[in-house]
Amino acid sequence: MIENKRGLLLVISGPSGVGKGTICKELLNDSTILSVSATTRNPRDGEENGVSYFFYDKEKFKTMIENDELMEWAEYCGNFYGTPKAFVESKLDEGKNVILEIEVQGAMKVKEKYPEGVYIFILPPSLEELKNRIIGRGTEDESVIETRMNQVTRELSFASEYNYFVENDKIENAVKKINAIIEAEKAKSDRCSAQLI
Ligand code: 5GP
Repeated sequence: MIENKRGLLLVISGPSGVGKGTICKELLNDSTILSVSATTRNPRDGEENGVSYFFYDKEKFKTMIENDELMEWAEYCGNFYGTPKAFVESKLDEGKNVILEIEVQGAMKVKEKYPEGVYIFILPPSLEELKNRIIGRGTEDESVIETRMNQVTRELSFASEYNYFVENDKIENAVKKINAIIEAEKAKSDRCSAQLI
C-alpha cells in the first residue's frame, strides 16, 4: 500500500574517532548499504582494498575527478577522499538506502546537489573522550593524532548544517537513534507513494 521508490541517501559525519565506522557497520542490512569511498591514504592494518576503501594513487584519483566519476571529493589531513557516483546512484534507484560516511567538506558538497538526503552528525560525549578514543585506536602516530585533533573544532563548526545530531555515548544507543531516524524519514509523505482509496 505504501511504497518508497528511491532509497534514502544518508550522509553521516562527525569528528575522527567518534565511532562513525562502527556505527555505520551496525546499520547495514538488506535495505541499507555503505558506499565504498576512494582514497589516496595508505591502508591501515586489516583494511582491504574494495571493502574499506578503494586505495588509489593520486594520479588515478585525479583521473576520476576529471572524468566526473565522483559525487564529491575532499582533501583531509593531506589525503584525498571521494565518493564514486555511479554505485550510489544505481543503488538509490534500486530502492536501497545508501550511507556515505564522509567528512564535512564533502558532505556540504553533497548537500548542495542532494538536498533530499538525510544529514546526520555524530557527536562525542566530550572532547576528552574523543582524544582518548583516537589514541586508544592505536592506528595513527602522534603527529597524525595532533592533525586530526586540530580538525575537530573545524568539523564541529559545521554540525548545525546537519538535520540530526546523534551522541555516541554507547554504540547501541546511537544505532537505535539512527534506525529511528531512517524509519521516520522513510515514512515522510513526500518520499512515498500511497494508494489511499
Ligand atoms: P579515515 O582516514 O579515518 O578512514 O577517514 C578520514 C575522514 O575522511 C573521515 O572523517 C571519513 O568520514 C572521511 N571520508 C571517508 N571517505 C570519504 C569520502 O568519500 N569523501 C569525503 N569527503 N570524506 C570521506
